[in-house]
Amino acid sequence: MNDTLVPTDQASISLPEAWETAIRLIRDSSDVLLICHVSPDGDAIGSLLGLGLALRDLGKAVTLACESPVPAKFSFLTGYTSIVDTLDAYGFDLVIGLDSSDPSRLGSVYDADQLSGVPLINIDHHITNLRFGDINIVDPRAASTAELVLTCLDYLGVPIQGGGSADLALDEGAYTPGETHPSSEIATCLLTGMVTDTLGFRTSNVTPRVMAAAVRTMEAGASLSQVTYYAFNQRSLVELSLLASGLSRLQAEDGLAWSEITLADRHACGYDGDGDVGLVGMLARTKEIYIAAVFSEKNNQQVEISFRADPGFDVAQLALTLGGGGHPAASGCTVHGSLESVKARILPLLRVTLDEQRRANDGQQSSSAL
Ligand code: 5GP
Ligand code: MN
Repeated sequence: MNDTLVPTDQASISLPEAWETAIRLIRDSSDVLLICHVSPDGDAIGSLLGLGLALRDLGKAVTLACESPVPAKFSFLTGYTSIVDTLDAYGFDLVIGLDSSDPSRLGSVYDADQLSGVPLINIDHHITNLRFGDINIVDPRAASTAELVLTCLDYLGVPIQGGGSADLALDEGAYTPGETHPSSEIATCLLTGMVTDTLGFRTSNVTPRVMAAAVRTMEAGASLSQVTYYAFNQRSLVELSLLASGLSRLQAEDGLAWSEITLADRHACGYDGDGDVGLVGMLARTKEIYIAAVFSEKNNQQVEISFRADPGFDVAQLALTLGGGGHPAASGCTVHGSLESVKARILPLLRVTLDEQRRANDGQQSSSAL
């Protein structure tokens, strides 16, 4: 693993070159470990399963791993039950990290000692990616890692309708189905990644290219309505009551909104899952709000923070400086301290971030009006 701890805009090798090496490594591998990030979302799980099913069909032994429990709402995806949270043997000849912007996001299943010497391919679309792999396929132009997996399948010759979007010509890989999953099953996994990371194609990074990738998965048999239903319509009453308690703690001032979820709230609502049950998105979608944050109290004096920003604002860099990462519009981190001390430390940083970016935006507007 490369231990460079600063993200760079420029990969040391170009993306086409990185793809070429990655595809060779994948073709030559026989026992592959795929890992997605802890507290997985739809893009993490969709990318893990989509690539995993395809590699199984290519006749490889494939282990799908995620340290955290996989949300039950993704159980409609083929392969869901084959995801493991621990590994008892390490005979892999290739590791692929998915949707993970730094090595800690791979969780405990990435055991650096056991995997030393095994090449690591890092496939991700976060702008804050630390390029920690031996091969880094990092493309922040992609709205989801699932799009990069689709490109990977094109290079491997796995048929998903309308193929050939890959802009690098490699030898045609003969697709020799092993266990064979219909391309609709693989496509459904990938569409899940695209739909969830774009909030149903509503985010500002949705380009015609993103839509074209989604259309290909639909042409291959993925159902947009099914994916959208499972991704967004599965909130339980317990989650709803946690959301209500989070909303009751809402604070807002001058374009900034924040709230918190305490351990006591989780306990009182009977919620033992991860995440903020969608609270931060709700705050961010409020008309008067440009930047939103939710502070979730965890055990062991840890606080998980989710940030969201409107178009024209950026919370990726703030999360990165706090040891986390993400996208300009959605990022997160986990920091040490009590809920109160963490809020006292982070809220001033949020105010400065918002002020600076608002001033920069105002400056741009007034100069373009000249
Ligand atoms: P969420 O707030 O939905 O958990 O995460 C928003 C975005 O930030 C996602 O892209 C997620 O991968 C990223 N993110 C959240 N928490 C962390 C973290 O602790 N470290 C890093 N590197 N990224 C995070
Ligand atoms: Mn993603």
